[in-house]
Amino acid sequence: MLDCAIIGGGPAGLTAGLYTTRGGLKNVTLFETGMPGGQITQSSEIENYPGFFQHDKTGMDFMNTWQEQCFHFGLKHEMKKVESVSKTGEHFTISIEGGEKVEALTVIVCTGSTPKRSGVKGEDEYYGRGVSTCATCDGFFYKDKPVTVLGGGDTALEEAFFLSNICSDVYVVHRRDEFRAAPPTLDRAIRKENIHLITNSVIDEIVGDAMGVTGVNIKSNDGTITHMDNTGLFIFVGHNVNNDVLKNDKGEFICEMNDWGQVIVDLKMRTSVEGLFAAGDMRIEAPKQVVSAAGDGAVAALQVISYIQEQQ
Ligand code: FAD
Ligand code: NAP
Repeated sequence: MLDCAIIGGGPAGLTAGLYTTRGGLKNVTLFETGMPGGQITQSSEIENYPGFFQHDKTGMDFMNTWQEQCFHFGLKHEMKKVESVSKTGEHFTISIEGGEKVEALTVIVCTGSTPKRSGVKGEDEYYGRGVSTCATCDGFFYKDKPVTVLGGGDTALEEAFFLSNICSDVYVVHRRDEFRAAPPTLDRAIRKENIHLITNSVIDEIVGDAMGVTGVNIKSNDGTITHMDNTGLFIFVGHNVNNDVLKNDKGEFICEMNDWGQVIVDLKMRTSVEGLFAAGDMRIEAPKQVVSAAGDGAVAALQVISYIQEQQ
């Protein structure tokens, strides 16, 4: 029986692992479907985590030291995908892909979110062949070539900036004339001479051939279509909450959620089910920042320790 099962190895899960193990729990396992690190490992830079101010470091560089530190204190890592969590009596059953089941006294779910698809014609066909959701991974393929970015949030504009240092021109297509991105991020993009903001417009179609994307058709709100001969399209249109692990076999959530599928927690990261905690981007009102996800993980871990002490 695990003292605590942590599901998801992003900033929230890793921090929960650090605090539970350093706080004295002996038997804590973090289940992470891939390598720990979470979605920030897709980022080309991070400059808003206090104490870390190195422009030449990527999100991947940033998270590497987290793993080292968290595993140092005894956190175990299983590279496995969790399918569901259920509670029977006083303990939880973690069902892992392939049929394995693990019992735990407490669970902290930190499964975060994944990039949304835009629904643009050609997106699925050319995904991975000129359509990307990761500038750090794929930007270099478009060195000195033009690229298009879809979206108007922080991710779209930050990644457009990253791409502008590699690519000849970056065309940011956004469906409104106001951006969702933070003002300093927008200002920086406006100041960069090879970033071109195309507002009140959508991508009508991604066009390509057997080799991949060759260009995009941009449609403005007045109906005008402009073909751009780009070699890459980067889509940054938000994220979906990874909440499937909290569904039972009837597809119902085992704890209370809001209308957007985010887990309802209190200030101690407690869900509506005793012993079940949620932390990071998947919870209500999440600021969706590394620092807040890490803070959530610490809060949840301290509550797990208190909860186990109360049960004894
Ligand atoms: P995540 O980081 O999403 O981690 C969740 C983990 O759970 C993933 O590793 C996933 O593989 C795993 N998982 C999911 N389902 C399962 C399952 N069923 N079984 C096992 N494992 C599972 N924030 C900032 O503060 N500053 C920035 O500069 C910044 N830049 C960003 C740039 C980009 C491109 C992106 C995408 C995000 C950025 N963010 C930034 C936001 C930040 O990355 C997130 O807020 C943070 O990573 C959330 O942490 P988390 O632990 O809640 O979830
Ligand atoms: P987001 O804030 O939800 O923005 C998504 C953008 O894509 C919006 O501008 C939206 O347009 C547009 N969009 C959505 N669906 C679309 C579609 N089908 N076609 C065309 N455009 C579409 O997502 P995000 O930028 O990924 O950010 C997610 C969270 O992480 C945010 O809370 C953000 O603040 C945070 N984050 C923070 C940082 C940082 O602090 N440095 C960096 C990255 C991300 P509308 O605006 O019209 O809705």
